[in-house]
Amino acid sequence: MNVPSYALDAIARLNAAGFDAWLVGGCVRDSLMGRVPEDYDVTTSAPPEQTEAVFAGERLIETGLKHGTVTVLLDGSPLEITTYRRDGGYSDHRHPDEVLFTPRLEDDLARRDFTVNAMAWNPTDGLVDCFGGQKDLADGIIRCVGDPERRFDEDALRILRALRFSSVLGFALEPETLRAARAKKDSLSLVSRERIAAELVKLLCGRDAVRVLTTCWDILAVPLPELAAMAGFDQHSRYHCYDVLTHCAVAVGAVPPEPALRLAALFHDAGKPACFTRDPDGAGHFYGHAKVSARLAQDALTRLRFDRETVTRVTTLVGLHDVPLEFPGAERDRAVKRQLRRLGEADFFRLLDLKRADALAHAPQYRSRTLTCDRAAETARRILAEQQCFSLKDLAVNGTDLIAAGVPEGPAIGRLLNNLLEAVIAGEAANEKQALLSRAADLAAAVRTAEKTTD
Ligand code: ATP
Ligand code: MG
Repeated sequence: MNVPSYALDAIARLNAAGFDAWLVGGCVRDSLMGRVPEDYDVTTSAPPEQTEAVFAGERLIETGLKHGTVTVLLDGSPLEITTYRRDGGYSDHRHPDEVLFTPRLEDDLARRDFTVNAMAWNPTDGLVDCFGGQKDLADGIIRCVGDPERRFDEDALRILRALRFSSVLGFALEPETLRAARAKKDSLSLVSRERIAAELVKLLCGRDAVRVLTTCWDILAVPLPELAAMAGFDQHSRYHCYDVLTHCAVAVGAVPPEPALRLAALFHDAGKPACFTRDPDGAGHFYGHAKVSARLAQDALTRLRFDRETVTRVTTLVGLHDVPLEFPGAERDRAVKRQLRRLGEADFFRLLDLKRADALAHAPQYRSRTLTCDRAAETARRILAEQQCFSLKDLAVNGTDLIAAGVPEGPAIGRLLNNLLEAVIAGEAANEKQALLSRAADLAAAVRTAEKTTD
């Protein structure tokens, strides 16, 4: 195993003080898979006070102390060192009622969630694998340690963790583990919304998100009931070869693995069932669904306590996902500039990613609509490279200029600037100071006249 020296050094220091110590959990799993672990966890026979004594002089973080965890900052990296523990009862289906220390590594491994997460390794003794983790790793299987129903009963978050690891690692859910996850899914309502959100994002950004969404949507529908309305909803449309849920899932798999984009793909058509109508020929239509989907996304993400920035970004992308960008020549430039102005550069390109994924999730003969996105991207890159004007900060006049030219201060200034920008984007005015100032004077005069007539 390729282990950073600070982690090996920590094990050696605990050994020198007479304690056993092992790397454990995710870092062992990832190293055996040839992946670089995000962080390293140590499990040790040393009680927490002894761990603190061994690392006296280092920076210690004690936030996990009541669970037996001491975090030590070594070489700038946090290392979590936890005393071997067993968990007491779980009356709330989430947290152990008490944490019991144990002298046995095997007990500590037995409390862990999945076989692939229940292996320990150190440089002296090598790998300890009591539950067949290595074989499940080789076979690509997520399997509970022990009786799955009992393990999900103890801690309902494990249900979502099973789906998350299945997606991230691309592993199958062992049939008994999946059956138990389904049987116990309702207990997910006891898990905090923040934890649900964190697992959901990891699941969505995983390589097998499409498979997990399409095969386990019924489990995910406990925290996200929106999915139930989408599942199996036939679109009655020649443009589509999938039901609404599958269409959204395929779109999730086709956007880059970035949380806001994956969430936007998941929700982009969530409002379709509520907007469904059929014309006399039987063809399905979904007028206004982008707006309804945006509201559903906003409600769901707010409920799951997502940060405001994510809620706003996802809601905006969903609401605009079907905005037309395919126009001839200069008209396309104008449409692209309006969206660049509205979204800014980064979110504009995210919108194109979403639109491209949406196209790819259509019936095969309509997937070439991605070309529209390619053309819009090309247009946007040219507008940006040429530093063309599409926002107020690019405009050749600002509020101070207007006030200096005699426009009275107040909200009218903002309206005037937006009018000028719209004229520049529409190609009706050049982005030049004098031209814009005289246009502003005309506009201000027109407003004054209009006000007088209404008086
Ligand atoms: P990653 O850090 O990539 O998300 P990980 O496996 O390291 O994956 P963590 O949440 O960091 O996951 O947990 C570290 C280890 O603690 C896990 O590998 C597992 O052994 C154990 N563990 C974590 N959460 C639970 C849980 N809810 N129930 C049982 N064991 C758990
Ligand atoms: Mg970890």
